Amino acid sequence: MSRRSSVTILGATGTIGMQTLDVIARHPDRYSVFALTANNRVEELHALCLQHNPRYAVVLDESGAERLKADLSNTDVDTEVLSGMSALDYVSQHANVDVVMAAIVGAAGLKPSLAAARSGKRILLANKETLVMSGKLFMQAVEEGGATLLPIDSEHNAIFQVMPDRRSRDLSASGIRRILLTASGGPFRKARASDLAQVTPEQALNHPNWVMGPKITIDSATLMNKGLEVIEAHWLFNATPDQIEVVVHPQSVIHSMVEYIDGSVLAQLGNPDMRTPIAYALGHPERLESGVSSLDLFKIGRFDFEAPDTERFPCLRLAFDALRLGGTAPAILNAANEIAVNAFLNHKIGFTEIPIMIESVMDQLQSGPADTLETVIEADQEARKLASNWMLSR
Ligand code: NAD
Ligand code: MG
Repeated sequence: MSRRSSVTILGATGTIGMQTLDVIARHPDRYSVFALTANNRVEELHALCLQHNPRYAVVLDESGAERLKADLSNTDVDTEVLSGMSALDYVSQHANVDVVMAAIVGAAGLKPSLAAARSGKRILLANKETLVMSGKLFMQAVEEGGATLLPIDSEHNAIFQVMPDRRSRDLSASGIRRILLTASGGPFRKARASDLAQVTPEQALNHPNWVMGPKITIDSATLMNKGLEVIEAHWLFNATPDQIEVVVHPQSVIHSMVEYIDGSVLAQLGNPDMRTPIAYALGHPERLESGVSSLDLFKIGRFDFEAPDTERFPCLRLAFDALRLGGTAPAILNAANEIAVNAFLNHKIGFTEIPIMIESVMDQLQSGPADTLETVIEADQEARKLASNWMLSR
């Protein structure tokens, strides 16, 4: 029997992290857990350590790490507890790690994802913000580090599944005309424009099809999630903005499609359950049992499609703008969005102010080259400052 693959899960206490552990627990003969990391949910991480007995557990802040250490000292688990950003890098690039699931939310996921890429790991990338902020640098790091990159985002995983195995960098040379990126449309797909200003965080957190962390759920309601995914598709598949079309498909069963020059359109379908892309990426090129139930087409009955409405949901347009501008513009968009989503969740700004804030920051900050991590982080920090100022001065 071959050696088991050793897995680090960045963001283990999150929605994707927990679903990854669910799939891994179905295949104890194939995978072992090397490290689990969390921001501050110490109790959850403690329970996961008891269950999976990782070599390391990382809590970002030191006092949380001290608490976890104390909690684990009375158990037979021999997990070593580490803290801080450097510990995230450590468990992402450790020589004994084969697979890194990058499932931290937001810009915080960038550095450990880069560390995994540079050290040649098999990277299961859920943290789309890494590609949005620094797609060029990250793809370079994957290539130079000899890493294997597998997308977890359900749309990109679907596209990956229906693209030719051996394709050239140039999509049209591989016979591909365009990518059809599906979107659920979110909870406000049918809402009147005049009602959107009154939407509450509680309503926005109620996604019709997917169970996800709060940040991506709000992004789904504003369609910024689809915008970030357009940028993600650009970097993963070398697609130009004109080669990516967003299609609203409210059932969320077709996870995306690829159209070929002969008119063929290939799609990947399945229940909206992230364990499918997680199992695909873990097992590739083999298929693994994921715990996902069979697709019941009779129950679903029909598939609908609509064009996205960028009048009511300007975030999608802003993301296309950022992609066309290039350089640090997507990092600026992403940072302003993180501040805006946080402010909305804390009842500091209204739902329709999210795109206004982002556009204001994009107007104030010139995009520059995104060739080094320093320039990307500087743009991110500047955008966060301007976004916070926007709230104070409005
Ligand atoms: P989540 O909020 O449920 O979990 C986030 C995880 O990141 C937690 O473990 C948390 O402890 C950790 N974390 C948060 N801030 C951190 C920080 N500053 N430093 C270190 N760790 C930190 O989020 P999620 O829904 O699991 O999403 C994770 C990523 O996957 C996001 O980038 C999201 O866009 C992407 N994604 C999620 C889904 C989904 O179905 N949930 C689908 C596609 C893509
Ligand atoms: Mg997605």
